[in-house]
Amino acid sequence: MTTTGEERERAFDHGEVEPRWQAAWDEADVFRIDDDATDPEYVLAMFPYTSGQLHMGHVRNYTITDAFARFERMRGEDVLHPMGWDSFGLPAENAAEERDTNPRDWTMQCIDQMRDQFVEMGFGYDWEREVTTCEPEYYQWNQWLFKQFREAGLVERQGAELNWCPSCETVLADEQVEGEDELCWRCDTPIDHREMDQWFLTITDYAEELLEALDGLDGWPNNVREMQRNWIGQQEGASVAFEVGDYGAVDIFTTRLDTIHGATYFSLAPGHPVAQQIAEDNDEVAEYVEMAEQADEDDLEVTSGVFTGEYATNPATGEEIPVYVADYVLTDVGTGALYAVPAHDDRDHEFAQYHDIDIQQVVEPSDDADADPDDVDVQEAAYTEDGVLVNSGEFDGLTSAEAREEFVEVFDGEHRTEYNLRDWGISRQRYWGTPIPMIHCEDCGYVEVPDEDLPVELPEFVHTTGNPLDAAEEWKHVDCPDCGAGAVRETDTMDTFVDSSWYFLRYVSPDLEDAPFDTERASDWLPVDRYVGGIEHAVMHLLYARFFTKVVDDVDLLDGVREPFVNLTNQGMVLGENGNKMSKSKGNGVSPQRIIEEYGADTARLFIMEAAQPEKEFAWSPEGVQSAHSFLQNIYRLTGEFADGEALRASDNASGGTASGGEITFGSEGEIADYVAREIDATAARATEEYEKFRFNHALQAVRELVSLLRRYREATDPDAETFERGLVTAAKLLAPVAPHVGEELWEQLESDGLVAEAAWPNADAPADYDIERRLVENTREDVRDIVDTVGIEDPETITLAVAPEWKHDVVAIAREADNVVPAVMQNEELQQYGEAAADFAKTLAGRANIDEHLPPERELAALERAAWLVEREFGADVVVQSADEADDGLASKAEPGRPAIDIAE
Ligand SMILES: [Zn+2]
Ligand SMILES: [Zn+2]
Repeated sequence: MTTTGEERERAFDHGEVEPRWQAAWDEADVFRIDDDATDPEYVLAMFPYTSGQLHMGHVRNYTITDAFARFERMRGEDVLHPMGWDSFGLPAENAAEERDTNPRDWTMQCIDQMRDQFVEMGFGYDWEREVTTCEPEYYQWNQWLFKQFREAGLVERQGAELNWCPSCETVLADEQVEGEDELCWRCDTPIDHREMDQWFLTITDYAEELLEALDGLDGWPNNVREMQRNWIGQQEGASVAFEVGDYGAVDIFTTRLDTIHGATYFSLAPGHPVAQQIAEDNDEVAEYVEMAEQADEDDLEVTSGVFTGEYATNPATGEEIPVYVADYVLTDVGTGALYAVPAHDDRDHEFAQYHDIDIQQVVEPSDDADADPDDVDVQEAAYTEDGVLVNSGEFDGLTSAEAREEFVEVFDGEHRTEYNLRDWGISRQRYWGTPIPMIHCEDCGYVEVPDEDLPVELPEFVHTTGNPLDAAEEWKHVDCPDCGAGAVRETDTMDTFVDSSWYFLRYVSPDLEDAPFDTERASDWLPVDRYVGGIEHAVMHLLYARFFTKVVDDVDLLDGVREPFVNLTNQGMVLGENGNKMSKSKGNGVSPQRIIEEYGADTARLFIMEAAQPEKEFAWSPEGVQSAHSFLQNIYRLTGEFADGEALRASDNASGGTASGGEITFGSEGEIADYVAREIDATAARATEEYEKFRFNHALQAVRELVSLLRRYREATDPDAETFERGLVTAAKLLAPVAPHVGEELWEQLESDGLVAEAAWPNADAPADYDIERRLVENTREDVRDIVDTVGIEDPETITLAVAPEWKHDVVAIAREADNVVPAVMQNEELQQYGEAAADFAKTLAGRANIDEHLPPERELAALERAAWLVEREFGADVVVQSADEADDGLASKAEPGRPAIDIAE
């Protein structure tokens, strides 16, 4: 692309323009929100982990919320759009090790770097609400909230088999272990298992509400809700008691009570109290229990287990069935005991085959099932579907569902709901996190750090292979708050997901010194209206944040806020140019810094927002970047030329040409201005709707079309200055949320007051019947193109468009209502006078799948007259628009409502 000297003069220099407007916004406090604002629009992006480097995923995430926040602000909303730093965590410790510094200095330096980059991107945050989780001013409230949770009975200290990453030397939550291979989420090392005492938040107490409330979160993507449902893993079943030897009644939990007659053995988890009792008298069992407790559970086969020599009584059959201790029964799931039905459960089947236990079928496929009962051989494989009961005595013939319902009463059981969700172990044996505010005293046990001694601040960092807190002797040894004797601090720190579980509440009152947040204000400002972040947080962060919100509401720190986020969007990935995930190792990463330097922040923002809807992934494209950059320069030039009062009509442009030497021959200037005015209104309406729906790419497409129209308008005629300016102002405003710096430049050139960031959003009512009119114009232009191409007309001189007669419009009106079109039309007395022509037209319409709505003839005529200049410019021909009366009969007879007849003369 070559540029003329004049064009270069008219290009903006992003290096000069962008910092200038950033300073102007800052000066005008555009993004500040007063504490006394009432229920502002709360727009939030998941705060970043402080890696120090902004990547394209960040840029996309934060451009989405920034554009939406700016849009809402221009619509007159008070907008809360804060930013903070998720700044605790292992990578800072690793970085400190690598660079021989400490996590604090490293993190603070990263924060400064990232804040600068955010400012350079033009992201408008209320920086006075900045929250930094690694500052004692923040994390003291983690400690205080921990004590609140404890008071509410939601903190437990449990010994548990935990996931241990040998490389990170830390315990991982289940959510931090990935895939079948059980890899560490941070470093991909296969994890081990260790038994340790840990602090747990008992999120399971909220399992039911966390599950049920998902139904009401209709502003969330369905896949995220489904992932949370699966994670919580509700199982509806029943519990029933079996007599086990001399050990009395043992409760089991089952979701398949219908199969109880087929129970041929009984199984206990190694940790079950009865298994432990048996182990006391039975060496073989004792040996197995000990082995199972030490083993990595995933190393054990499903068939791993030991016969106890004991028998349980099946209450359904009265039979004595052997009791095993087997590792595949989990202590913490259900009751830790189950009856096994090898005929109808895959795991039980495998176990029974290995241990040579009876397999007894009690369910067969029902008549309407796909499987044929004769083809089912439970000796070969378990039949796990529901069906009809057999070999179940008087209950034969019941369906599985009926049996499950009836057996609860028959066997004196009870309905029960179990969850797969586990309690949340928050202890981490690492330095860079919130110290858990507990002290261990030999005499008093665990004692809370009193409020007046909060925060428990981190000691100086020391380099050690283990936990630096454990090595901080002076820090670690304190007096017991209860008895004054020598005691030891808890040296574990909190999972950093605690930090991110309530940070959105701290933004409400970030400097509050006597509480984590202002209850009254938080109750008014929450929930977050729009939350945007990555899908990788679907079950961890988003579930914990929901849990925290419910708890703080229950302990009266909030007033009736049960869910933190009303609307959730997970942005898609930004892929490398080759369509692969961007990564340093693949060499296909694009640095935001480089793009800002080369093209400016607005170009990056515009490209990203035009490339795809927020949820979709897209590949980086240099052509796309170039296109965004050119568009911004073009609109800047167009606006500048208008502002300078330069000839509104470009003399050097001939794209499309006009009929006779640059003069238009048809359509009054008023008609053209009317057309443009309607397009301006329609664009504002369309863009508004698309912004509301988070379809920024569609909104931006509308802006591009408007700018292109204004350019053609200027080329076609002397534009009406007022209309033209309104078009430019509208385009500048609609563009400003996404390209805010260029938006301000345009606004300034148009000599408008103040900042576009604070200007009013354009009025957004589409003209009446705009869609119908647009379809009419587009179809007509398409038809002219077809004729010119098909007939091979090189230089059309006159194009005549004739509108259909009134009676055809009447036929369409009847046809749209009638089930049986032809008789309905022919029974109409008015239309009978048109005889065969009316019948033929009715038949044509009857053959169509659907009949579109049309404008009445006089409005169709007016619409075509307004749009005639576009046809004229496209084909370089005179355009004549005629009513049915004006047109000659031959031509008029070919016209249909919504489809004018076309005659082209060379
Ligand atoms: Zn690891
Ligand atoms: Zn004590």
